[in-house]
Amino acid sequence: MSALYAVRDLSVSLPGQGFLGRLLPGRLLPGAPARIDILQGITLALAAGETFALVGESGSGKTTLARAMLGLVPVSGGSLHFDGVALGSARAFAGLRRSTAMMFQDPVGSLSPRMTVGALLAEPFVIHRRPLPLPGRAGRAAQAAALLDRVGLPARLAARYPHELSGGQARRVCVARAIALDPRLVIADEPTAGLDVSVQGEILNLMTGLGTALGIGFLVITHNLAMVRHIADRIAVLYLGRLVESGPAAAVLARPAHPYTQSLIASEPQPDPRRRRADLAIRGEIPGILRRPAGCAFHGRCPRAEAICRVTEPDLRDLGAGQQAACHFAPGQ
Ligand code: SF4
Repeated sequence: MSALYAVRDLSVSLPGQGFLGRLLPGRLLPGAPARIDILQGITLALAAGETFALVGESGSGKTTLARAMLGLVPVSGGSLHFDGVALGSARAFAGLRRSTAMMFQDPVGSLSPRMTVGALLAEPFVIHRRPLPLPGRAGRAAQAAALLDRVGLPARLAARYPHELSGGQARRVCVARAIALDPRLVIADEPTAGLDVSVQGEILNLMTGLGTALGIGFLVITHNLAMVRHIADRIAVLYLGRLVESGPAAAVLARPAHPYTQSLIASEPQPDPRRRRADLAIRGEIPGILRRPAGCAFHGRCPRAEAICRVTEPDLRDLGAGQQAACHFAPGQ
């Protein structure tokens, strides 16, 4: 399958003084490092119609990666290709953004409270200066009705305001806005956060159905592994700005090779507490990008760490069947 979006050996680093200056405004920082690596050596590819999950704790770099893929963060190394075209200029990224839509974590907060649903569904056309399929008020109403129908909502909701919607309805309106301009790629940040489990399932089914029917690639940023199980074709696990495991989601979640992935899975809430693997559950806090440990960055939290882990950073190795992991003790092929 050819890649809709290919990321190769991507690095993002920021000047140390500038990065720390933003964290500690007004302070002199003579000891700041010259550069701070936020992301390093990230390679992944997303196909049309595929759902790709970026997983990791807060501070793992998944949001920075998504922002770099949209050209919102300067990259310091590697390459980005969308539909085979290199993204090396502001113009190329502007073209990418015309084919891309974002879904934000807080659906009601991301919708203007002063606009009706109908106006919100016409807004992407206004922002991107695209004509509606039919002109005038009747065209706006027809477009809103068609989009609402596509996401399983009645046309009468076009007259409502965001605060009059349930959480599930608001999320469906966000999905409708995301697909309004026929995007090739949708980046969704925690698309089911704050929803009841049953409503989460409905929204995920809607997204995967639209992805398959319309050939949209979904890049989903999340720490919710239950959602990843439900929706993702493939998965990339990030830890402190490095890819530590990737591959087909079903294989990675059934046989995680990296202790970090194993810990994330073991830390998932279980209906039956006896099934929880306390020995593997994640422990401690992610250290923060400024205190990146030497060797394997996970060694301070890893239940399997040995002496080599403290000094030698493991490479990302192929494990077979498309799965890769960066651990000295990952089972090899
Ligand atoms: Fe754990 Fe060592 Fe593997 Fe890192 S390299 S994940 S510390 S066993």
